[in-house]
Amino acid sequence: MLAELPSALIAEVERAAELLKTKQRICLLTGAGISAESGIPTFRDKQTGLWENYSAEDLATPDAFSRDPKLVWSWYQWRRQLVASKKPNPAHTALAQWQYNSQLTNQHLTLITQNVDDLHEQAGSDVIHLHGNLWRNLCSRCQIPHTTQLKGHYDREDNIDFDEALITCQHCDGYIRPDIVWFGESLPVHEWHTAEEAAANCDVFISIGTSSLVYPAAGLAQLAKHNGAKIIEINPYPTPNTLVDITLAAKAGVILPELVKKMGIL
Ligand code: NAD
Ligand code: ZN
Repeated sequence: MLAELPSALIAEVERAAELLKTKQRICLLTGAGISAESGIPTFRDKQTGLWENYSAEDLATPDAFSRDPKLVWSWYQWRRQLVASKKPNPAHTALAQWQYNSQLTNQHLTLITQNVDDLHEQAGSDVIHLHGNLWRNLCSRCQIPHTTQLKGHYDREDNIDFDEALITCQHCDGYIRPDIVWFGESLPVHEWHTAEEAAANCDVFISIGTSSLVYPAAGLAQLAKHNGAKIIEINPYPTPNTLVDITLAAKAGVILPELVKKMGIL
């Protein structure tokens, strides 16, 4: 696969592998781009079907849910249906293998994701979710987790209820919503603290498939750089980001398996 890449890019993958072999604390941040090759559209892709006249930014907000809970719930049920059958791609698998073998390489990897899918977990990774989990629900009023409609881990899609009818909380009668951090909401405290610690104390920060536009997650690379880390970006359309030391401008599913192989892990 690597042979299909331009020689300048191959040289950059080798440079990244050489750097990583000498470093121990690695912090990785993934975004929607890592799941794109599994067939999950990113937020910036145009929506399809019934939803093509809406932008994701207009639906994933607390205001949108207060204004029209049925619309937002239906959209999430549709997204759940879209994501349920999707499987990890070679990028998720390579990261899981690296994480699994990190004791052998004497490295400590912290994997942080902005994604709400569970493809990292399906691949076998330990991952910190900064923006919530598509397969969990909670009450929009009393915040108590709502335990039906859950996707059991690695459950099959036919066990999930994709009904678009709104459901209400058994404690307070508030509407049930997905347990996802919407635009304008705060990140979960424990997860954010862990992510900040990992970014501030890493030797290398790797940003994978994220447009680096959504804060505070986008600030983690800055924090890492400020504390002396090298920054690697993997994205076929690199962001205009002056922090980056090594840019690997191709799909994550192509670059990550090769990077991990060049480090001697696969
Ligand atoms: P984004 O949509 O803003 O950016 C995606 C980035 O991925 C772009 O820079 C694009 O160039 C890049 N990309 C596309 N294909 C790629 C590939 N094959 N390999 C590597 N990079 C690729 O997504 P974001 O930065 O994650 O931020 C937006 C928000 O969207 C996040 O808060 C996230 O919670 C949410 N979101 C999550 C999912 C998911 O869970 N799968 C999907 C859509 C959006
Ligand atoms: Zn409630």
